[in-house]
Amino acid sequence: MATPALSVSGLTRRYGAVTALAGIDLEVRPHEILGLIGPNGAGKTTLMACIAGLEVPDQGQVQTANGAARRDALFYLPDGVHPYPELRVAALLALFAAAFGQGSDAARRVEAALGLAPVRAKLAGTLSKGYRRRLLLAVALLAPQPLLLLDEPFDGLDLHQVRSVVALLRRLPAAGRTLLLSIHQLKDAERVCDRFALLAEGRLLGVGNLPELLVQAGLSEGGLEEVFLALT
Ligand code: ATP
Repeated sequence: MATPALSVSGLTRRYGAVTALAGIDLEVRPHEILGLIGPNGAGKTTLMACIAGLEVPDQGQVQTANGAARRDALFYLPDGVHPYPELRVAALLALFAAAFGQGSDAARRVEAALGLAPVRAKLAGTLSKGYRRRLLLAVALLAPQPLLLLDEPFDGLDLHQVRSVVALLRRLPAAGRTLLLSIHQLKDAERVCDRFALLAEGRLLGVGNLPELLVQAGLSEGGLEEVFLALT
């Protein structure tokens, strides 16, 4: 088995009386799309923030492939950030491309990939939710790190946009990327992920692809929804 892109062991994070994460063990395999799946408050964002190093766990460890520094191994795109709202979209992408040491055509490439051409002259702070989400995803694609942590990548996207972003993300592993996505919509997760880590109340209920999860849940057929209901 290849060295994991990331390993998490015994990760626990408490906020006062709330245990947001309770001893999470998880491996992210190289070049897979792993979904952190769970309802509101399950601990998805806390887990990503602990992995990224923005939150300090009370217990447990996070290990990157070959012990690389986290800043070299992974890029974390949190939910709800609005970088440089006063910059125009094209300028913002050019800025991030330069900051990430990418060539001059990289900004244009991600702009095209995310369908941002119609808004390239708009101020980033004036974009609709869907375009704002696509702009953030474009920034993540410019990042050079092999592992991308994307918190709710489909939030704010309409049906067509979800489909096109799913297709885009599905192409990334072949280009050498590994993805850890937090997703609360089960249907979106089924469309994009290779494997799923099911979280509820800070605990991992199961990890695997759909056939493996069906076995773990003692089911002979069904989707993620049935698995989730059977495991909770
Ligand atoms: P959502 O889908 O709503 O974003 P989530 O699965 O990402 O939820 P978290 O945001 O990780 O869940 O929250 C997990 C638990 O930890 C929740 O009970 C939340 O209220 C609590 N929590 C998270 N951050 C803090 C904080 N800074 N202070 C206190 N409690 C917190």
